Amino acid sequence: MTTTVSAPSAITTSPARGLVCRACGAEYPLAAQHACYECFGPLEVAYDEAALARVTRAEIEAGPQNIWRYAALLPAGQDPATRVTLDPGLTPLVSAPLLAAELGITGALWIKDDSQNPTHSFKDRVVSVALTAAKELGFTRFSCASTGNLANSVAAHAARAGVPSIVFIPADLEQGKVVTTAVYGGELVAIEGSYDDVNRLCSELVETDEFEDTAFVNVNVRPFYAEGSKTLGYEVAEQLGWRIPAQVVIPMASGELLTKVDKAFSELVEIGLVEAPEDGWTVFGAQSAGCNPIAVALHNDTDVITPVKPTGIAKSLNIGDPAAGPYAIEAVRRTGGWMDYADDAEIRAGIRLLAETTGIFAETAGGTTIAVLKKLVESGKLDPAKETVVYNTGEGLKTLDAVAGEVGPTHRIKPSLRGAREAGLLG
Ligand SMILES: *Cc1c(COP(=O)(O)O)cnc(C)c1O
Ligand SMILES: [Zn+2]
Repeated sequence: MTTTVSAPSAITTSPARGLVCRACGAEYPLAAQHACYECFGPLEVAYDEAALARVTRAEIEAGPQNIWRYAALLPAGQDPATRVTLDPGLTPLVSAPLLAAELGITGALWIKDDSQNPTHSFKDRVVSVALTAAKELGFTRFSCASTGNLANSVAAHAARAGVPSIVFIPADLEQGKVVTTAVYGGELVAIEGSYDDVNRLCSELVETDEFEDTAFVNVNVRPFYAEGSKTLGYEVAEQLGWRIPAQVVIPMASGELLTKVDKAFSELVEIGLVEAPEDGWTVFGAQSAGCNPIAVALHNDTDVITPVKPTGIAKSLNIGDPAAGPYAIEAVRRTGGWMDYADDAEIRAGIRLLAETTGIFAETAGGTTIAVLKKLVESGKLDPAKETVVYNTGEGLKTLDAVAGEVGPTHRIKPSLRGAREAGLLG
């Protein structure tokens, strides 16, 4: 079985030189292909090192206030006219001293708050890059298999570009993610099954004649999609004054985001835009207890991921058969990091702790990451004296139910001073 779509064209003007198999190293042209014909391994974008090495800090700093300031390090979108984008990126890097104190962290602690993107998750970055590549490759309809946030982003990007979309979601998705997708128009297909069922169906649809014109951002143009995540590494380094932090904590669904932040740091060092920190950097991964196949494989000291049937409230992370899992494990092992997972109660507590100490309301994925940060400090895996950046990848308003039962008004009073006094507000 081959998994290619015969797209009308290939991308020609790009620092990327082709696609390369992550498993066997076979090389292919830059086209809509995501699996190796030799070994079925996943493909990733490979760059012309000389082209990357020409990129300067000054050029980047003079660029737009969004991910496209890094266009010269991305596989598509060199020409602004071809971009399919809501211009995500340059989200705040927020200092979190109160959270640090609460957790016993003495080094600098930062939250990279990617809930501040146009559709309120980091997925706008990957979708902008994937759909820009899709347009350059000649696709005329946009699609995805989504755990929620991707659906929001693809539907919104398609609406802005005036391109039809058809997105696929599990039928049990949070209402906050269904409405925030459907509102953009386009077709929205709810599938009676898990995300992994949705993904499998999309892999089958992409092979049909009826979907030949359709770019599935995380299926047939996945190598381009994955590259968008690198901007979360570049941005943190630039925002720290062109420095790489000692430690990063990253939520994992497929595990791709984690591998690409690590790749971004490596690229920045290789092309001379930043100096590597003296002891390198260390990458930590966060999953939920309801869907922890990558963390469990690491704990069991294996590279073999045993797929699970996901449960629990962190639905945006619920990929039971994570494609980039082995590569995430490799990055964490190589950098001396660790992975852990948090149960639903810990995730809720993580959402509330982040909100109460930083003013940032995260979705369940963010709660997962904060809960795992706490565990990593307690277990001594994360060095509390070193600088740490924690990625908040999504917005709490989309998963209100996670904490709706736990918080509410602290008082209810009559509209009078007497009412206020009776409630103890006047002493
Ligand atoms: C998709 C998603 C992730 C994880 O992405 P992967 O690259 O698949 O690991 C993390 N957080 C949120 C909020 C997401 O929507
Ligand atoms: Zn291969």
